[in-house]
Amino acid sequence: MEQRQFILSQNDIPTQWYNVAADLGEAPPPPLHPATQQPCSPDDLAPIFPMGVLEQEMSTQRWIDIPDPVLQKLALWRPSPLFRATELEKALNTPAKIFYKYEGTSPAGSHKLNTAIAQAYYNKLEGTKRIATETGAGQWGSALSMACSFFGIGCTVYMVRCSFTQKPYRKSLMQVYGAEVYPSPSEKTRFGKQILAKDPDCPGSLGIAISEALEDTVAHDDVKYSLGSVLNHVVLHQTVIGLETKKQMEMAGVYPDVIIGCVGGGSNFGGIVMPFMADKFAGKNVRATAVEPKACPTLTEGPYKYDFGDTAQMTPLLKMHTLGADFIPPAIHAGGLRYHGMAPLVSLLKQKGMIDAVAVDQMDIFEAAVLFARTEGIVPAPESSHAICEAISEAKRAKEAGKETVILFNLSGHGFLDLGAYDNYFHDKLQSTAACSTCAQR
Ligand SMILES: *Cc1c(COP(=O)(O)O)cnc(C)c1O
Repeated sequence: MEQRQFILSQNDIPTQWYNVAADLGEAPPPPLHPATQQPCSPDDLAPIFPMGVLEQEMSTQRWIDIPDPVLQKLALWRPSPLFRATELEKALNTPAKIFYKYEGTSPAGSHKLNTAIAQAYYNKLEGTKRIATETGAGQWGSALSMACSFFGIGCTVYMVRCSFTQKPYRKSLMQVYGAEVYPSPSEKTRFGKQILAKDPDCPGSLGIAISEALEDTVAHDDVKYSLGSVLNHVVLHQTVIGLETKKQMEMAGVYPDVIIGCVGGGSNFGGIVMPFMADKFAGKNVRATAVEPKACPTLTEGPYKYDFGDTAQMTPLLKMHTLGADFIPPAIHAGGLRYHGMAPLVSLLKQKGMIDAVAVDQMDIFEAAVLFARTEGIVPAPESSHAICEAISEAKRAKEAGKETVILFNLSGHGFLDLGAYDNYFHDKLQSTAACSTCAQR
């Protein structure tokens, strides 16, 4: 029998995060102040983020200690399991060995809780009373609501309107954890009202929801803002995924030829890939592929330049691959992948030729998801299914080449709250990317 599970003990939870900024050989381009276009100082950002988070955002220290209270909460479900997809391999009749790290065992159902807990902790330490944030599909909102309730902080979530309608149970979940949830654009903010006045049916976007959360934050002294992806500190917090996976691949006696992750803002991809990039900088031969939706092709088609993180142009400018801060993607079901920008750290690695990117169609990802569920059992989130889709393509290429390629992908979350999307897929209500424009979706 082939070994299927690679299980670590609680003592194997990493006690430090890995900061790839230490190994890039150059400082990552700094964020620029939206008014002056000069590099931001931590003081510029202090009204928005706690200092503990800002220090990490700007740090080039290779290893950063994970505080004990954070570890204590991570130990609720970490280390997460690594599985060998033996049944998927058989179904594909491939000589490839496919492994997946499963982040859906977190009580929030995705990797997002890894950073939510750390961010809620630093906010608690510095006296924040409430955190305002945005959410797309609702994964980030549910993770942050849970983390805020763990640390006794209030939470307000601006949820992209089309997801608010598509995924009502995510909203209920956030309410269980005590958060206030508003569909964005909302009537709660000046910016939201302005958008609704122009377009009452606006499906919303992460860019708009971020502007609303920021407006809420700067209007109140004891409120801070929190972002679930993109920023350096978020990628940092997610490296627990890759650090655990490295130990687990050692248990399996293999090293990956290729590592695959879906990308929205780049955090789960960065989380699994960065610790392996340390090896690649040291000369190891390993490929990494970021998978995005054709409906929001940030890395494959967006230029690499300074751009705002939000629609109202309130955030600092980040150097990243971007489709433009006013880009409103079609209302695809992988709501977590509908962001116009990309983590500056992931963008820089792409720029340096250290990682590859591909864009896949919504129909293909559901086909992959269903095959995966029917062989491996886990119902994947539509976001994660982008990674599965590319892993299957790699396994097919391995078969053609007759190669025993070792494929590793991150299964970022489960899809139990996305069954409505599966329902649409089975009833031919999904459109392929080519046929699906923002207007057609409204
Ligand atoms: C939010 C989310 C993503 C996309 O965000 P990244 O920051 O790119 O990881 C992917 N998968 C799941 C399950 C998510 O919730």
